[in-house]
Amino acid sequence: MRQVALITGASRGIGRAIAEELAAEGWAVCINYLERREAAEEVACHIRAGGGEAMAVCADVADRAAVEAMVRAVEEDWGGVALLVNNAGISRQGLFQDLSDADWDRTLAVNLTGAKNTIQAVLPRMLHEKRGCIVNISSIWGLRGASCEVAYACSKAAVVGLTRSLALELAPSGIRVNAVAPGCIETDMVRMLGEETRSLLVEQTPLGRLGTPRDIAQAVAFLASQKASFLTGQVLTADGGFIV
Ligand code: NAP
Repeated sequence: MRQVALITGASRGIGRAIAEELAAEGWAVCINYLERREAAEEVACHIRAGGGEAMAVCADVADRAAVEAMVRAVEEDWGGVALLVNNAGISRQGLFQDLSDADWDRTLAVNLTGAKNTIQAVLPRMLHEKRGCIVNISSIWGLRGASCEVAYACSKAAVVGLTRSLALELAPSGIRVNAVAPGCIETDMVRMLGEETRSLLVEQTPLGRLGTPRDIAQAVAFLASQKASFLTGQVLTADGGFIV
């Protein structure tokens, strides 16, 4: 039977690696994206070329109606989503005193409300089937705070609250909810900080390197697997020792 995984923000970076890792483990993967249609289609093609099942699906996770439509379309084509990975996220840098209402609202809308929207869209089927798995992508900055990224850190701290609360609420229904908190990972999000900041982050990481998207994908695949069948409400920090 087809096992369907929906990964938000999977056109590039960590989301792409998660989609590829899950596809290699036999999941039929839905690659959600917002703007980069070609990139998302390329990920899907790459997975299909390797013998996997993949489709690219567009939706702004912050837009509840768009998310509902995306999930209904996936369910019609492939059946219910058994694994949801809330990975789509944005970050913006700047002093808190300069943070605009629009930037604050958009950061929370994508990083926190986006996860809420997708969970509410897939939940009816999961509840009906009394099984399911949700993995939310938080961040070490949500665990320890981040200067000049206050909105981002708040949104990622809230994702931890969402994870733990839903783990409690959904455990009786056989649905596990966990989070991965990545450290500094080599993606566009970190590249845009510039070479100097990148070198500083490498220096501050005890394992002496930035993480790869695959490092995070493997942590997600573990939480989604039967090997983690007794884990719920957990935040797995994958950061090369950054916040030990
Ligand atoms: P990235 O390279 O910037 O990619 C972001 C992905 O999210 C893209 O696929 C993008 O789609 C998608 N996206 C953005 N806004 C969206 C929206 N409103 N609706 C649907 N998709 C949307 O980011 P990344 O570094 O891979 O980060 C992935 C996740 O890990 C994020 O939640 C991030 O906060 C978290 N994280 C990253 C790091 C790090 O060091 N990189 C550390 C800790 C946590 P398009 O390409 O179509 O725009």
